Amino acid sequence: MSDGKALLPFWEGFRVSDLQTSPEGIQISLEVDPGRMPYCSGCEQPCAQVHEYGRRRIRDLPMLGQPVHLSVTLRRVACPTCGHRREWVSWLERHARFTQRLAQTVAHWCTRLPIAHVAELFGLHWSTVRTLDERRLDATLAALPPAQPTRLVMDEFALYKGHRYATVVMDADTRRVLWIGEGRSRAAIRPFFQALGSDGCARIQAVAMDMNTAFDLEVRQHCPQARVVYDLFHVIAKYGREVIGRVRVDAANALSHDKPARRVVKQAHWLLLRNPDHLKDHQQVRLDEVLAANQSLMTVYVMKAQLKALWTATTAWAWRRAWKQWMSHAEQSQIPALIQFARRLRGYWRGILSRVRWPMHTGQLEGINNKIKVIKRMAYGYRDSEYFFKKIKAAFPGNP
Ligand SMILES: [Zn+2]
Repeated sequence: MSDGKALLPFWEGFRVSDLQTSPEGIQISLEVDPGRMPYCSGCEQPCAQVHEYGRRRIRDLPMLGQPVHLSVTLRRVACPTCGHRREWVSWLERHARFTQRLAQTVAHWCTRLPIAHVAELFGLHWSTVRTLDERRLDATLAALPPAQPTRLVMDEFALYKGHRYATVVMDADTRRVLWIGEGRSRAAIRPFFQALGSDGCARIQAVAMDMNTAFDLEVRQHCPQARVVYDLFHVIAKYGREVIGRVRVDAANALSHDKPARRVVKQAHWLLLRNPDHLKDHQQVRLDEVLAANQSLMTVYVMKAQLKALWTATTAWAWRRAWKQWMSHAEQSQIPALIQFARRLRGYWRGILSRVRWPMHTGQLEGINNKIKVIKRMAYGYRDSEYFFKKIKAAFPGNP
C-alpha cells in the first residue's frame, strides 16, 4: 500500500504512505495532511510558520497480535511565544514516543497486572511500562481535591522481605490514603504532620492505631487535642498470640503423657481462633470436648469474647463497668499469660475507652492491608518505594 492517499481513522490529520510487516511487527509510515494548519505543542495556538520537518518513531497499540511502529513526519513550528516547538497532534502523548491510546491502555492494565506481564503483552520494555504507569499515577494524584481530614487511621506494614516497614495514614471518613512513608518510628511519620501544618493538625479529632507503636507519642505532640483510639483488630490478634497461643501450648505440654488428647488440643488451635458463629455443628462438638478437657482454654476463650465486647460498649459508663469486670476476671483467672496481658493492657485504657466516642472502623485497615499485598505482588522485583507508594495512594483516592 503506497498510493499516498490512504486515510485511516486512527491518526487524525495524517495519511498512511506505507505499511509493511517484518519480524519486528507492523511498520506504518504516516505523512502529515498538507492542508492541515500546524498548531504549536507548547501553547496549542495555530502557527503557520514551519521551521523544519523531522521523522519520529512512535509506538502504537498492537494490531492483529503484532507490535505497531509508526514512522511519522512531524513539523516543527516557529512559534512567536514558545520558539521552536513540535507541532501539536491530538493522538500523541506529551513526549511523542507513544500514541495516547497506547499510553492509556498500558496504564489501565498496570492497575490489574504485574508490570512484567504488561510489558510482555504490549511488547514494551518494563521501564517504559513503569514510566507510562507513573505518569498516569502522577496525573491521578494531582487531580485529587485537597484533603481536610478530621479522623485518621494509622498502620504499619512490612515493605519487603527482611523486615523493613512502611507506615500508612488514611482519612477515616473518606478512606483516602493521605500519606505513606518508609519506617515506623516517630521520626519516620513526622513528615506527615509537618506537611499537614498546624491548622491541619488542629482539625484532627481522633486517630485509630495499633497499641504497640510509636505513633501515639507523635500524635500527642502534633495534635494534643486528638484522642488516640486503639484498634480492636490488633488487640485481639495480640491476645490470640500471647494468651490463647500460650495456654494452648501449656495444655498440650501438660497432656504430653496422653498422646490422643494432646493431638486434639493441638488440632483445635484454629477452631479456637475462629469466630464461634462460623463453626459448623461437628466442629462445635469437637470444640466443646476440647474446652471441657481444659478449663484454662475455656477461660481464655470466654475472655476473648468479653475483650471484644469492650469495643462495642455504647456509653462510657457501660464501658467502665465492663472494663473493671474484665480486669478482675483476668486477675482471678490464675492463668499467668492472661494476667500478664491484662496488666499490660491496663495502661492503655484511655485509647480503648475512646472507642465509645469515636467508633472508628477497623475493617478499613484490613481492606488496605489486603490491597497493599496485591500491589506489592504486582510491583514485585522493582523495589522502588516511591513508585509503590504512588500506586497505593492512587488505589485509595477516597470517596468524599
Ligand atoms: Zn506556542
